[in-house]
Amino acid sequence: MNAPPVSGLAAAASRRILRERGQREVFCGLTGIVWLHRKIQDAFFLVVGSRTCAHLLQSAAGVMIFAEPRFATAIIEEKDLAGLADVHDELDAVVARLLARRPDIRLLFLVGSCPSEVIKLDLAKAASRLDARLKSHGTRVLAYSGSGIETTFTQGEDACLAAIVPELPEAGGGRRLMVAASLPDIVEDQFARLFAELGIPVDFLPPRRAGALPAVGPETLVLLAQPFLGDTAAALESRGARVLEAPFPFGARGTEGWLAVAARAFGVPADRFEAAVAGPRARAERAVARHRALLAGRRICFLPDSQLEVPLARFLAEECGMIPVEVGTPYLHQRFHGPDLARLPADLLVSEGQDVERQLDRVRAARPDLTVCGLGLANPLEAEGLATKWSIELVFSPVHGFDQSGDLAELFARPLVRRAKLAALQPEALTGAAA
Ligand code: SF4
Repeated sequence: MNAPPVSGLAAAASRRILRERGQREVFCGLTGIVWLHRKIQDAFFLVVGSRTCAHLLQSAAGVMIFAEPRFATAIIEEKDLAGLADVHDELDAVVARLLARRPDIRLLFLVGSCPSEVIKLDLAKAASRLDARLKSHGTRVLAYSGSGIETTFTQGEDACLAAIVPELPEAGGGRRLMVAASLPDIVEDQFARLFAELGIPVDFLPPRRAGALPAVGPETLVLLAQPFLGDTAAALESRGARVLEAPFPFGARGTEGWLAVAARAFGVPADRFEAAVAGPRARAERAVARHRALLAGRRICFLPDSQLEVPLARFLAEECGMIPVEVGTPYLHQRFHGPDLARLPADLLVSEGQDVERQLDRVRAARPDLTVCGLGLANPLEAEGLATKWSIELVFSPVHGFDQSGDLAELFARPLVRRAKLAALQPEALTGAAA
């Protein structure tokens, strides 16, 4: 079993971090609905926002044309913005129409946006009013904000999970592990099997169905599976749970380190741990090795976008031999990023926040082999001859755990392969679209 990870606060304190505050290029928290609506199968996400919000959701999740979607936008019109209409009455009418059409909805999220924040629409109050009315009919109503004001796109999931925490039942009857993060079902099933082999009782937040909320209390130990869940962690701690500090479960070593923290907390003997992880760890190492030859020695920059940057840089440096040049993250949660941060090279530039023009200047000067960034920056950088990877793809795709390690490495190898093929065909084709 690995040695205990370095304390997050100690790791962050010993490293110079460049903090920038300027123009940012990130999506808003509404984006999280794209993966959250697939996870909680009887939930519905009603965005209270503008036509822009509706367009974002339609284009980000427009694949739902053959199914009844589980998200929609209640449009705030100009008369609402001018205070000429009672938005609460209109919202109640929209919810009534929605539930008449979709009586299967068990958990309705009212999702705030920039416009609803600008007009100071109190969605928490609206949710509690509707919840009181609809609870007896079997539908719970909660609210959270997906606004893009001062937030980044993964914070939508954090806000959603944090909104669920007060609804979790009180735990009793022994210590249990809770894994927090909206993971694809296939990844969740793999982790559930591993924890069963380790003899660790485990629940997952969010659940797949609204009626299966996991219990929480002082005997709950929490493992975050995503690094952007600071508010969720704080909410769980306010219910008495203890959040464990661990590297994030990317790649063979990250997953082993993550599992080892839980195993240590639950007193799992070292030989039982080794018996459970040896096989999948070896498979993961073999899968990553297939891409290592291409990735090793390549230089990579992360622009701040998803908050996954630090643990992914750890995976790419430690397990794939890549050389991180700059790792930018929108927000460095020192406690939770620390175990991965401690395993990154000491002289690496880590930046928090964004001043996009300055950061692009640094990328242009460094000319890395690969830049991980948001959609809006990818095409301009490709046009300048820099290979890019869309950071949002790393949140949409199953990338956690031993069995996804090879796929995760391949996500970074693919743009390099594509670029090499284009270069072989015709060098001028390198001004094409992003990966
Ligand atoms: S929430 Fe704000 S940033 Fe997001 S789509 Fe709506 S207006 Fe745009």
